[in-house]
Amino acid sequence: MKDVVPDVLPRNGYDGKGPETAAELIEDIKSGTRRSTMAVKITPYILSLIDWADPLRDPLARQFIPLGSRIRPDHPKLSLDSLNETGDSPVKGVIHRYPDRAVFLASSVCPVYCRNCTRSYSVGADTEEVSKTRFLPIQKRWEAMFDYIERTPALRDILVSGGDLYTLSPDQIRMIGMRLLGIPHIERIRIASKGLAICPSRFIDPDDDWAGAVIDLSHRGRKLGKGVALHTHFNHPNEITWVTRLAAQRLFEEGVTVRNQTVLLNGVNNDVDTMKSLIAQLSSLNVQPYYVFQCDMVRGIEDMRTPLQEILALEAAIRGSIAGFMTPNFVVNLPGGGGKRLACSKESYDRSTGLSTFLSPISKDPSRTWEYWDPLPSHPEVGE
Ligand code: SF4
Repeated sequence: MKDVVPDVLPRNGYDGKGPETAAELIEDIKSGTRRSTMAVKITPYILSLIDWADPLRDPLARQFIPLGSRIRPDHPKLSLDSLNETGDSPVKGVIHRYPDRAVFLASSVCPVYCRNCTRSYSVGADTEEVSKTRFLPIQKRWEAMFDYIERTPALRDILVSGGDLYTLSPDQIRMIGMRLLGIPHIERIRIASKGLAICPSRFIDPDDDWAGAVIDLSHRGRKLGKGVALHTHFNHPNEITWVTRLAAQRLFEEGVTVRNQTVLLNGVNNDVDTMKSLIAQLSSLNVQPYYVFQCDMVRGIEDMRTPLQEILALEAAIRGSIAGFMTPNFVVNLPGGGGKRLACSKESYDRSTGLSTFLSPISKDPSRTWEYWDPLPSHPEVGE
């Protein structure tokens, strides 16, 4: 690090407290790592894209490298499993929240670990803060999950996720995909991987068959009249390079549907210009900008969450300025397991307390209100 980070860090308008020298930065990273809910893991590709001359303001560093000086006290409503995925799992590894859809958690390992991961209760290595619930990528565990899906005819759509499927072998991807496509009542599958955003070179490497497995599944799905899509996760335009363009072009030529899910993160993409640029660049890659998520209420990332007001303002500024079919849905995944709702569909929003409320059509009690709380720094008189 000493060869790329300046001895004295530039502030450049950075108004947070924090390290002033390279040596202090290293100590701050150590402190952040000790207090983080996620282990630290980054691909060489992402490391190469971080602006190490100005690391405090870099939007990629902020997503993956915790700084102790930035970690804030948790809002009392935060939890590790904020979406109650464990409570919605009839079989370990299958999240069945919506009547016709389920998530198949194939693994709990990823090629990178995002600080804001919604599955911080499970994904990655244990940290000093969290002992993780593991989802081992083994056939025996998967068989119980396939069995549940096979005997639940209401299911139509399976999201195969984790963890990240980039850590599975091409044979494992093919096996899981073909098995699900072979279930008569399953009409669609989605494969979740951040791979295109954090290591796109694998998609164009002739010696790497991972993308080949996804392409095979896509072709097989078309023959069967079933949808197969790759769901990926770009958060900032700086993650897109000439390698990404080649990788996305290969998928486009092969007819693979690719959708993107962005998480709205403080200091990363919570301004109109950055979000517009990200949406425009994804569109030019033929990657559908599908969702912008309000950051989930998970522990340890109060510095990364934004008040609901920011996602509302972003949508107001962006919707209508680009083609409707390339405009993402700006959504809140309701804490507790109420499912995704458009942020603008809130029933109430009290900016002085930071509490917004929503109704959910999948709720057993339709009159139940579901709560989202803004991060503490936006209403210090309440929380702190
Ligand atoms: S790649 Fe996805 S599952 Fe893995 S740490 Fe990041 S957000 Fe979590």
